Amino acid sequence: MEEHNSHIVIFPYLAHGHINGFANLASLLHHHNPNITVTFVSTPRHIQSVSSSSLFSSSIRLHSLPWSPELHGLPPNTESLADLQVSQFVTFLYATKSLQPAFDDFISVVASDAASRGAKVVIVSDIFFGWTVEVARKYRVFHSVFLTMSCYGGAVFLSLFINLPHTKTTSEWFSLPEYPDIRIHRSQLRKNLSMSDGTDLSSIYLHREFLLCCKTDAMLVNTIEELEQKWIGMVAKTLQIPIFPIGPLIGGLNTASPSEGTEIIEWLDLHPQASVLYISFGSQNSIKKNQMLELALGLEASRRPFIWVIRPPSGFNVNDEFKDEWLPDGFEKRMKEEKRGFFVHGWAPQIAILSHKSTGAFLSHCGWNSVLESLNSGVPIIGLPIGGEQPYNVTVLVELGVCVEVARGIMENSELEKEKVAGVVEMVMGDNEKGRDMRERAKEIRDMVKKAWKDESCSSAKGLSEFFKIFNSR
Ligand code: UDP
Repeated sequence: MEEHNSHIVIFPYLAHGHINGFANLASLLHHHNPNITVTFVSTPRHIQSVSSSSLFSSSIRLHSLPWSPELHGLPPNTESLADLQVSQFVTFLYATKSLQPAFDDFISVVASDAASRGAKVVIVSDIFFGWTVEVARKYRVFHSVFLTMSCYGGAVFLSLFINLPHTKTTSEWFSLPEYPDIRIHRSQLRKNLSMSDGTDLSSIYLHREFLLCCKTDAMLVNTIEELEQKWIGMVAKTLQIPIFPIGPLIGGLNTASPSEGTEIIEWLDLHPQASVLYISFGSQNSIKKNQMLELALGLEASRRPFIWVIRPPSGFNVNDEFKDEWLPDGFEKRMKEEKRGFFVHGWAPQIAILSHKSTGAFLSHCGWNSVLESLNSGVPIIGLPIGGEQPYNVTVLVELGVCVEVARGIMENSELEKEKVAGVVEMVMGDNEKGRDMRERAKEIRDMVKKAWKDESCSSAKGLSEFFKIFNSR
């Protein structure tokens, strides 16, 4: 059976980071062999956004599934986590399950067409869509998960929900049943997870989906073997499936408006090498109001220039109008006048900022895409994880020696103190041994990351060709 006969169906979860990661994957697979049929499946608005992106050549097929959020009590036009208040996340999670019948119908057509041509079908899907494993089994096609997070982060995240109610444990530290070597501190659980007793709706959904997802045939991971060798081996052994690191897949659909991009780059051009701190919490997260105030005061005390992608604090909609009262008195005006602060009220050209020579550190929520973009540019990270698997991504980064965690934004009573902010910024960016070591290490990691796709003998290039070998041999 030849690879060029294959039909690969790409099906991401409905959230920006996932859509973007899977769009990058679709593009990679298509470039690997343009004779493979690649179909990107999603809801209408996401299909519209990928179809207008230069990332997608017209040869990548698009398939739109019907989507009616109002039938599930969600506002019309809700099509992504970013459209929602946190209180609506669980409703959204359950609503996405309504995509199953139409997805099943689509795979039925793809599978019968492939059978008539003697071709193979592969479904590559997200961990939140564990039910796609059932669809793959029904039509006897190969299934792979694509993990858009670190391998370690994914393993911990899956294990926590599979083993709920882990919160019954009384100790500060606990181990995961499948991975006794991994130790988790209670403060690394997000607030709603630490309250999960296994009977709440989100735990029930994720428990079922994650159990199914562990029955997949393989796992592609947007990581680099050299960074996570230990964890990749451990997860492969536990789940008894092959794991293929194929990162870094970065860039893709993330673009800013050209005028905003130019202004930021011109502002960065005015600053000395590695002098600017870049601050962003990803595509949909916000920190709490008191944390915003402390962060601002800490930045003012640090006296270092910064770019802050700023949005309303948690509890407000990310698209709400920004109010000055969320910052210390006159802060934004003062910082602008002193040319110390650049505020982005919207979408920042993150990759261009991180790859600019004036950017010296990144204060990040440690979403995996942001992490890879930072590592790819050799920029050390100050971690402020907010949710999901972010606290576990931080563990990987701290072990690699490129990150200091300033606070855990996920905890209800998590304090971000201005003195700590100023101290950590100075440690990472200043002239001291720890800072110099971190910056040096970030450059070493950048070289490792950039090498992963250099030629066919390098780790991610090998990961992808081994993935093809496996499903072609089935
Ligand atoms: N991003 C961007 N500009 C912004 C905010 C986010 O380009 O103003 C991009 C960022 O480069 C990254 C993605 O959005 O690729 C965020 O993904 P990540 O995994 O870091 O976090 P998530 O948004 O999924 O929490």
